[in-house]
Amino acid sequence: MSRERQQSELGEEVKCSKCGEFWPADAEFFYMNKGRPHSWCKACYRNDPKIIAKNQRFLDKASKQRQQEAAA
Ligand SMILES: [Zn+2]
Repeated sequence: MSRERQQSELGEEVKCSKCGEFWPADAEFFYMNKGRPHSWCKACYRNDPKIIAKNQRFLDKASKQRQQEAAA
């Protein structure tokens, strides 16, 4: 699958398929999978309700674990 790319003075940029913005194709802006940037930028992943719910469950689990450790 091809995706939109552009060259800037900073290097290659790829388009986020969610927000439609171009971002540098590196791990600072995209989660990388086998050296390729995901189709969504990190900001979009962080703003996605499903991802937020998932992160919240993860945080809940982590805080429960800490409480159990504190109680033990
Ligand atoms: Zn985005």
